[in-house]
Amino acid sequence: STPVATFCALLKAARTGLLIKGGDVLESLAGIKVAAFDKTGTISSGEFSVAEFRAIGERVPRHQLLNWVSSVESRSSHPMAAALVDYARSNSVEPNSENVMEFQIYPGEGIYGEIDGQGVYIGNRRILSRASCETVPEVNDIKGVTVGYVACNKELVGLFGLSDVCRTGSAEAIRELRSMGIKSVMLTGDSAAAATYAQNQLGNVLAEVHSELLPEDKVRIVDELKARDGSTLMIGDGMNDAPALARADVGVSMGVSGSAVAMETSHVTLMSNDVRRIPKAIRLARRTRRTIV
Ligand code: ADP
Ligand code: MG
Repeated sequence: STPVATFCALLKAARTGLLIKGGDVLESLAGIKVAAFDKTGTISSGEFSVAEFRAIGERVPRHQLLNWVSSVESRSSHPMAAALVDYARSNSVEPNSENVMEFQIYPGEGIYGEIDGQGVYIGNRRILSRASCETVPEVNDIKGVTVGYVACNKELVGLFGLSDVCRTGSAEAIRELRSMGIKSVMLTGDSAAAATYAQNQLGNVLAEVHSELLPEDKVRIVDELKARDGSTLMIGDGMNDAPALARADVGVSMGVSGSAVAMETSHVTLMSNDVRRIPKAIRLARRTRRTIV
């Protein structure tokens, strides 16, 4: 398109809270065929509530477990972390991030920290093998959609259940994209149960749902979508999304709650966190391309 038309379009988008990093990105937006959505913090609000928090076995009493978990989580910026920290406070347990040594993040799995001389792993099922937990008791009655595991000394010492809700605009954005001939899929590091729950909340508008993904799995699926369906947009908020955002034809990051690395790697930042801006931006890009020549 003409430099003037492009400039006007970028300015118009910026006024609605959509930062598009240049005219090339606008061109790419016009040709998008498939949109890949991260779940936690993108399709869903990322505002989790704690449905249950339970100590397993005799070794670690519940209040101590809550102190360990909230203290280690207070070092994490994952959406689940804030919920667990708030939950501890509402149970009169004050998290203490200064007591946490050797803090580590395992993207798509969880976190690790040393506290009171103990190494504590918190995350999804994958974290259990990282924690060398070999025998895990069967527990199937945890409330909440996303189940979290706490392991220490090669033993499962706690379980918790979290739930979050889909953003109000998510289903609308996905339906709008579909009316424009763009297919939407979900790519999540969360469990299959949590992914299916979100798909149902959305009214089954997603063409495909992929769960239990590591950051590199998200990249692989973006590559597959590009090869199979054509130009691919990826939208996400987390550090675990950054490699896939970079690999997509257009990477979109969430501006309000997103991680810094996601914003740096993306081509577009949604300052409002409103995913309904995406179909609008694609329409704008298509119109701008038509005003060309
Ligand atoms: P998504 O792809 O949906 O945004 P993530 O890749 O961020 O999800 O996380 C995948 C899973 O890893 C989460 O569902 C959770 O089970 C686990 N996890 C990641 N970070 C943490 C954390 N700080 N505390 C507990 N669990 C975590
Ligand atoms: Mg996310």
